[in-house]
Amino acid sequence: MIILYDDRLIKREEANIDIEDRAYQFGDGIYEVIRVYHGIPFYLNEHLERFQKSADAIRLSLPYPMETLAQKLLDLARENQLEEGNLYLQLSRGTSPRSHAFPSDAKPLIIGYTQPDSRPLTALQNGVTAITDEDIRWLRCDIKSLNLLGAVLAKQKAVDHGAKEAILVRNGTVTEGSSTNIFMVKGQTLWTHPANHFILHGITRKITLQLAEYLGISVKLEPFSPSHLAEADEVFLTSTTMEVCPIVQIDGKAVGNGKPGPITRQLQKAFEKEIERVCQ
Ligand code: PMP
Repeated sequence: MIILYDDRLIKREEANIDIEDRAYQFGDGIYEVIRVYHGIPFYLNEHLERFQKSADAIRLSLPYPMETLAQKLLDLARENQLEEGNLYLQLSRGTSPRSHAFPSDAKPLIIGYTQPDSRPLTALQNGVTAITDEDIRWLRCDIKSLNLLGAVLAKQKAVDHGAKEAILVRNGTVTEGSSTNIFMVKGQTLWTHPANHFILHGITRKITLQLAEYLGISVKLEPFSPSHLAEADEVFLTSTTMEVCPIVQIDGKAVGNGKPGPITRQLQKAFEKEIERVCQ
């Protein structure tokens, strides 16, 4: 496999990550996951804009211009003949003798690689199950930071319960999933948490909200409680890799009639059309 290492495309075996890389020791860095359909990255610019925002938020500068990075990612996908899958991109503050404060001498390191992966068609068709769990993450969930321990522990709890996702609850409100944004439908209204510091501003969330507006679905960007969620007619999650995916059971209890609902289906169809429009 060919990977992006700093500004070069090299073989994976040739990469050399130092034991004092700050991503490795402190999780001191940021990342992105970008979906590729038919060999074409989906909403690449939006992902790179968020990458820049995350970098700014942790006071980290990109080692070279964004336009160069965009071109390198296209080259990477092409070199690996990635038709369907993901591009993973990471920026570390670099390598320096271990000490918490920013090093003056470290050079930020970009790495990127590809993962072939097909669309999660069974999950999209049948829906997935979820549990609820306490949101123990830090207060800057809007930064796509490499510090993912809160998400890792929540996801593992879901897996331990035979579920696909953990829906996180902070101070009596549903924030998001461990690696997804959460939407619910009650009556004809779509609800999702507002884009503030408590959630990652998902690119798929944003696309879904645009599609909802286009389809004339009424939207409330307001926090809602777990009991509100338990009474929802429909619930779904969104993410780059899971797209718009129905949640049919939460904490062992069926959502609505236990089947993906009509508004979820409408948004899934619109999302598929968007993929075809952008990546044909
Ligand atoms: N929330 C969290 C915590 C995530 O990790 C992710 C996926 N990285 C998302 C939401 C979904 O974001 P996106 O649609 O940009 O993949």
